[in-house]
Amino acid sequence: MLITNANLITWGEDNQIFKDHAVYIDDGKIVEFASSNELIQKYAKTEFLDARGQYLMPGNICAHTHFYGAYARGMAIPGDPPKDFPQILEKLWWPLDKALDGDSIRASALIHLIDAIKHGTTTLIDHHASPNAIPNSLDIIADAVDRSGLRAVLCYEVTDRDGGQKAKAGIAENLRFIERTQSEAVAEGRIAATFGLHASLTLSDATLDACRQAAPDGVGFHIHVAEHEADQEDSLKKSGKRAINRLHKHGILGPNTIVAHAVHIDRSERDILKETGTWVTHQPRSNMNNAVGVAAVEDMLQAGIPVCLGNDGFTQDMWTEWKTTYLLHKLHHRDPRRMNGMDIIQMAVTNNSALAGSFFPTAPLGKIAPGAHADLILVDYHPHTPLTAGNLPWHILFGFNESMVTATIVAGKVLMKDRQLLTLDEEAISAKTLELAPIVWERYNKFAA
Ligand SMILES: [Zn+2]
Repeated sequence: MLITNANLITWGEDNQIFKDHAVYIDDGKIVEFASSNELIQKYAKTEFLDARGQYLMPGNICAHTHFYGAYARGMAIPGDPPKDFPQILEKLWWPLDKALDGDSIRASALIHLIDAIKHGTTTLIDHHASPNAIPNSLDIIADAVDRSGLRAVLCYEVTDRDGGQKAKAGIAENLRFIERTQSEAVAEGRIAATFGLHASLTLSDATLDACRQAAPDGVGFHIHVAEHEADQEDSLKKSGKRAINRLHKHGILGPNTIVAHAVHIDRSERDILKETGTWVTHQPRSNMNNAVGVAAVEDMLQAGIPVCLGNDGFTQDMWTEWKTTYLLHKLHHRDPRRMNGMDIIQMAVTNNSALAGSFFPTAPLGKIAPGAHADLILVDYHPHTPLTAGNLPWHILFGFNESMVTATIVAGKVLMKDRQLLTLDEEAISAKTLELAPIVWERYNKFAA
């Protein structure tokens, strides 16, 4: 396929912008890019997609999300409103994930995947929980991802909160799915796996050790850490150590492990994250919504920790997360110099691409370059001031929005064209999801009681 008449934003180490260019894609990869005239002549017999002067850029990446949360929208929490994050877990998320069965896991994932395609998010790193439907739950999500055409990294959140049998079942589900991705190209290689852990506060020493022993060589973990002070208080009580120190002792950290949040960590924990090469993800909308605090993201970036950007199951429109990050840290510090636009690019583009790319190593991810995965979006943006590689971050932060995404392409396949979804039927999926909602909410209310 040849995408013609596009203004390219390449990202990559040396971000460049090219006017009136074309990109030739074959077998899921970018083969080359050059002026439209040159490539139209060279590939005259191929299928064309006319960008009509829109911006063509790599799709956005979400480093931490939860496909399982779609049924939370509009749901009433019985009793007094949760007063802090531990109560949000106990009153909202834990009864809700218990209410999920196969059909609702599938429906919830599909809702998020539609949202991602419509808003230009092409790779998503998911963290799944469904304590009453653990075995094969990752296959259900993988099927949904396969249908959508998107790229994803999946895992199951192991926890002791529902007893030893369910902790074992969670470990088995991670192992089963990791082995599946190692023995076959799931969704033609668009799906990878990691080993999920819920959070230090719901994991015993024995379970952490069992996970460490079970995880195959080269496979890391994906875990929430220090989202709230409760994680630290629990860790100190259990081990006399802070959460990062405790996880480090159990061999959980390292260059393949993702730590979500890290809001309440101290300097020594930051140093361990740095030394171990652990990835950290930042989710400001979630942190604000749960009122848990503000992670010292700039300090971590300056210390050389690869901080990425996720959304924690909020809407799959990553530029909204960029903008929230940009604004939150300025307000929090009462200093407009904080959270420079280039810091956002470091997290959301450079680090997210490196993290997501580590799961799909057959080609570079997150840039327009010969040989890279052809995960691309078209953006209908008309700048009214000069747009350059140097000021692009601020054009995005103040000018772009997700409704400008008109086409989404993953591995060379067009998933949305002219805002029409080509792989998923939004009307039918929303209707099916809505039909299941009263049943899921009824089960939620039973577990919440
Ligand atoms: Zn999360």
